[in-house]
Amino acid sequence: MRIAGIARRAADAFAEGLWPTRCVGCEQPGELLCDECRSALPWVEQRLACPSCGAPYGFLTCTECDGTWLPRATVAALDFRGTPARMATCLKDAHELRLAPVLAQAMACALEEASAWPARDGAPRFSPADLDAICFVPATAAAYARRGFDHMELVARELSLELGVPLADVLVRPTARDQRDLGRADRERNLSGTMRALDDLGGARLLLVDDVATTGASLAEGTRALLARGAAPVTACVLARVW
Ligand SMILES: [Zn+2]
Ligand SMILES: [Zn+2]
Repeated sequence: MRIAGIARRAADAFAEGLWPTRCVGCEQPGELLCDECRSALPWVEQRLACPSCGAPYGFLTCTECDGTWLPRATVAALDFRGTPARMATCLKDAHELRLAPVLAQAMACALEEASAWPARDGAPRFSPADLDAICFVPATAAAYARRGFDHMELVARELSLELGVPLADVLVRPTARDQRDLGRADRERNLSGTMRALDDLGGARLLLVDDVATTGASLAEGTRALLARGAAPVTACVLARVW
């Protein structure tokens, strides 16, 4: 056990010599996210954000959603542009799995801030005491086959540790095509009806997490699938909001 640990550390040190850790924001060698890039992250100010869709300035009137947004509340941690976009793509496409806890911490931070502000239903947008489990928007079968892991499962697992709320791996989507080469309308069509929940959810209060929300198609589909199996109104959280 000890020898295995020493060997692993030696292997890590060797890899670090060959491929030094670089900041995901500015590529400087050293840390995954350097202090400068960390302090320059474009946080969404929860006080000003739309309680329904998480858009950064929709608190009073939101131009990004129209009352048909399915999750009861959505908390977006960051504006998508710049470093947050690279955080998401480096995790899933460059296989930088060490970013999973970094994403989870950013989301936990935003959730904590959002707990001080009401959703449209009057209850706090987020309350860990009123949460039974965390679930995630699963990768498509094609993306899973290509990457060999589900990046949101990793983030949800870290967030579950961070918040002390159990992880529920309940959503599957076996047949949808990879979304990357589809336009907005096709994305919605491609996702429609393809996600489903495996278990009966009998009133469970769930937090549904994803990396990025643009039209909210994936969050809507996941929420619809959870509600169809009896979940209570769903709260959503994403790392970043495109708007
Ligand atoms: Zn940096
Ligand atoms: Zn909105």
